[in-house]
Amino acid sequence: MTLLTFRFAPSPNGELHLGHAYSALLNQGLAMHAGGRLLLRVEDIDTTRCTPAFEAGMLADLKWLGLAWQEPVRRQSEHFAEYRVVLERLIREELVYPAFMSRGEIRAFIADTQTRGRDWPRDPDGVPLYPPADKALPMKERNRRIAENAPFAWRLDVGAAMKRLGGDLVWAEFNDETLSATHSVVASPQDWGDVIVARRDIPTSYHLAVVMDDALQCVSHVVRGRDLFSATGVQRLLQDLLGLPQPAYFHHRLILGPDGRKLSKSLRDTGLATLRDAGASPDDIRHMVGL
Ligand code: GLU
Repeated sequence: MTLLTFRFAPSPNGELHLGHAYSALLNQGLAMHAGGRLLLRVEDIDTTRCTPAFEAGMLADLKWLGLAWQEPVRRQSEHFAEYRVVLERLIREELVYPAFMSRGEIRAFIADTQTRGRDWPRDPDGVPLYPPADKALPMKERNRRIAENAPFAWRLDVGAAMKRLGGDLVWAEFNDETLSATHSVVASPQDWGDVIVARRDIPTSYHLAVVMDDALQCVSHVVRGRDLFSATGVQRLLQDLLGLPQPAYFHHRLILGPDGRKLSKSLRDTGLATLRDAGASPDDIRHMVGL
């Protein structure tokens, strides 16, 4: 029988809070119950926001909480060369294109569209989709701008990618945390428009690194928050484009703050370190998140 593999994959760009604690402990509980293993992955590709201090704090919080993972920890910032190989393949296959528009230019494009009475579509997070102009730039012009050091990001041509695959794109989603049965969810990556798959100076993005690492680490079960549910559509598309295996998914409930909103890393009162300093025990944390 193949070993079931779960992972907890936080980004060290702030302090861990109760939402992270729930996700980490749920993954650990499910891995133990299934006789599988739990991996820890540090998602630190954003080298400006992720810091060694946050990472050290994160590891200390997780150990205090009683999380035990199989070594070694995979740190994404140590694998840029591997992501670059895959990015270069996507470039060669013309599935990505350099996108040069700045935030201001995108805003101006949308304002202009709206003055002409048209609404511009937004992604599930409410961010306007990337305008189509750069996709049509002649190769010569693209190369000229890149040579001139213009800032850009590599974006996936979702239309071309979907056409390449044809057929329905679905994933298996567990019905609940007993992980006893799944249902099929139709992926709809086009809802996100042409997502960023790499930056000029960082040869990956969250989506690209996550699908590559889940495959490289043989992750069979991705258990993470509902806030990432529709992002899974983009990741399924990348898995098929790159010929990677697909894990099964469970998108768990979110821990909400007293105001009913999703917790954020800047809400200090629900930070694990703050709660610990105020005298909370790991068992108190389990109770607070309903475990
Ligand atoms: N690194 C992501 C985060 O901190 C989670 C990625 C995932 O679980 O797929 O929200």
